[in-house]
Amino acid sequence: MNEKVRQLKGGHLGDIDLISQGSVSWNQSICPWNEEEGVNEHRCAVKYTSICKYFCGIKYLDTILCSYPYENIDVLTGDEIDRPLIKCPTCGRQHDTDKPICQYCNLKR
Ligand code: SF4
Ligand SMILES: [Zn+2]
Repeated sequence: MNEKVRQLKGGHLGDIDLISQGSVSWNQSICPWNEEEGVNEHRCAVKYTSICKYFCGIKYLDTILCSYPYENIDVLTGDEIDRPLIKCPTCGRQHDTDKPICQYCNLKR
């Protein structure tokens, strides 16, 4: 990453999504996951937390970086991701490697 850019942890990401379905006045791309499944429910970040396994952050000014259909932890390298993540062997969800149990299915590792 550019050495003049600071990496400041814990920022409030708010809600980030592409689900307005034409109700906003700006030109908005379609979430490829929603498009593939014919739904309008997948969101990149909710309540200050990244939730989508395809979400790769924001490119300034306001462009969503999305790795669909490849999981972000398989695509991002080096300091492009801020902490070690693993996929839970049971439910397949991503979580921090330093958490002893999966926060989604409670599987102990
Ligand atoms: S990161 Fe990509 S796949 Fe995930 S909700 Fe956002 S636009 Fe959709
Ligand atoms: Zn799990």
